Amino acid sequence: MLDTLREKIRVVPDFPKEGIAFKDITPLLASPDAFHAIVNSFADRYAGQGVDQVVGIEARGFVLAAALAYKLKAGLTLVRKPGKLPAETLKASYELEYGVGELEVHRDAAMPGSRVVLMDDVLATGGTICATLGLLQRLQCKIIEVAVLIELCDLNGRERLQDHQVFSLLQD
Ligand code: AMP
Repeated sequence: MLDTLREKIRVVPDFPKEGIAFKDITPLLASPDAFHAIVNSFADRYAGQGVDQVVGIEARGFVLAAALAYKLKAGLTLVRKPGKLPAETLKASYELEYGVGELEVHRDAAMPGSRVVLMDDVLATGGTICATLGLLQRLQCKIIEVAVLIELCDLNGRERLQDHQVFSLLQD
């Protein structure tokens, strides 16, 4: 199953800038069997763990997090790029494999003590997830696990997330 999923990831060289091999997951999402298999794999992993919220990172993280939250009957928390969330927010800066940026979450997005799974599509350098974990800690969430579809192992992002459990469905 995992090999079939891996085959559906389209690698686009030099996007969005030279030297980046972009993992395009749109063919995976477009495949009914693949999308179903991905969401079910994550849902099986977290079923029965009392997940209150699945946290998704804009934008591709939203797609996976929303489907997982629905399956688990959990809530969905959105971590967004600056200026998108309308109410009072917490902010964190982060570094990308191809740039820098900021992320925000609503101050009242999750109750203190909420049990959360943090989801994104790709773990590259770990900067994005690291920044988001900081936001979730400020919200006093209990982070069950960080879940990503694809881990780019050569970039050692996992090392930056040492204090947390990290699960990747596919490794590259
Ligand atoms: P990082 O903060 O370096 O771990 O980068 C992770 C974030 O950037 C994720 O939200 C990904 O969507 C995106 N990203 C970084 N590198 C890639 C890549 N090679 N292909 C696709 N998305 C990437």
